[in-house]
Amino acid sequence: MSISSINTDVCIVGGGSVGALLALHLAHTTNLSVHLIEQQSYDDVCADPRHIALAASTVDTMSQLGIDCATLGYPIKQIHVSDTGYLGQCRLQASELNVPALGYVVSLSALTRQLHIQLGDHPQVIVHYQNRIASHEYANEHHHIASDTQQWVCQYCVVAAGNSQTMPWLLETETQKDYGQYGVVANIKVAGNGPQRYRHTTAFERFTNTGPLAMLPIEDDTYNMLWSMTQDQAKAFLAHSSATQCRLVQEGFGTRLGRFTQMDSPVMFPLRLTQQQSRHQGIIVLGNASQTLHPIAGQGFNLAHRDVVALVRLLADKHPPLDIAETYRKARARDRQSTIQATDWLLHSFSHELLPFVLPRNLGLLAMQKSRWLRQWFARLAMGYR
Ligand SMILES: Cc1cc2nc3c(=O)[nH]c(=O)nc-3n(C[C@H](O)[C@H](O)[C@H](O)COP(=O)(O)OP(=O)(O)OC[C@H]3O[C@@H](n4cnc5c(N)ncnc54)[C@H](O)[C@@H]3O)c2cc1C
Repeated sequence: MSISSINTDVCIVGGGSVGALLALHLAHTTNLSVHLIEQQSYDDVCADPRHIALAASTVDTMSQLGIDCATLGYPIKQIHVSDTGYLGQCRLQASELNVPALGYVVSLSALTRQLHIQLGDHPQVIVHYQNRIASHEYANEHHHIASDTQQWVCQYCVVAAGNSQTMPWLLETETQKDYGQYGVVANIKVAGNGPQRYRHTTAFERFTNTGPLAMLPIEDDTYNMLWSMTQDQAKAFLAHSSATQCRLVQEGFGTRLGRFTQMDSPVMFPLRLTQQQSRHQGIIVLGNASQTLHPIAGQGFNLAHRDVVALVRLLADKHPPLDIAETYRKARARDRQSTIQATDWLLHSFSHELLPFVLPRNLGLLAMQKSRWLRQWFARLAMGYR
């Protein structure tokens, strides 16, 4: 059976949050025709139990694209960082920078759904669900990609297919570093919600004996928890009753938020650093397909957002460079490597119980708490302004 062929300017393989963001940004900024190709159904692609923290710079871009994170999510007005069992702690506050929020917490499902809904307003973007790209060829200066039922011929091919490693024929692994950790994610309810200074709009990062424990504020009495631990610890944690899970979180996190009373069924995600590149030089790789980071610093989507902005700028140029994939890679190399290295460094510094690590990290936190300048500098980085 012969399959039909569609000609278009841009094909994006993968309609997760990053692929959909790129499609929407292109629709707002260029006249290029775009085909977004996703292997799952609409409902499945918009179902992800995680909440993620969007930096203020990402929120700015979203609002230019008609997505209001203040309506979609929950503001972070303060970030509290602490180290279990030690004195070091610091608080970064939006008010010190005269901004309404350092960022917003959004549910990944709600964000992806909103992006897909907005795409419906742009006839230049066509979304194909339940189409799995299974081959790629480059001929006559065009990319030819195909699923079981359809073929596309395009000038620009972008792969935002996540880190499922289902495309070994197209993507090769550059780096893989297994941190030996899993992220346990769940919504957890708290009674009392702690003292007024932490109420509701504070995100917490606490370094515990098993690994970093983040609490992102969502509804009034509910936080989205991400706790890093070994695979065995994560499996054991998931097997406990909700009451025991709350007790364990209470022991790891302490009482500054009040008493944890109930936890939704947690799920676990492997946490590793992976960097991939395309086997074909002309293909642009974005989002988790390009790199997965440990979520300790909440940078994965925020970095991908900066990649999307840079790529759209190149594609919107009246005379885009002929070797656009290479120009893009060079332009993004510095931010990509520094974000990967900073995340890696943060994880290592806060994962050791030895004095040479404990002392500097606690001195660092105390210095930041004392110095307004340091806090402001760090808060700007957290907000994604480079
Ligand atoms: C526990 C956890 C917490 C996190 N917290 C944060 C945070 O606070 N802040 C932050 O910025 N980032 C965070 N991240 C990172 C963030 O979640 C990711 O960077 C982002 O979700 C990546 O989206 P993506 O679209 O690249 O990949 P995905 O969401 O995996 O989407 C890829 C899509 O491609 C499709 N696909 C795959 N293969 C094919 C194919 N052959 N053909 C067609 N379609 C295909 C898949 O079905 C999928 O829908 C976190 C990550 C984890 C694990």
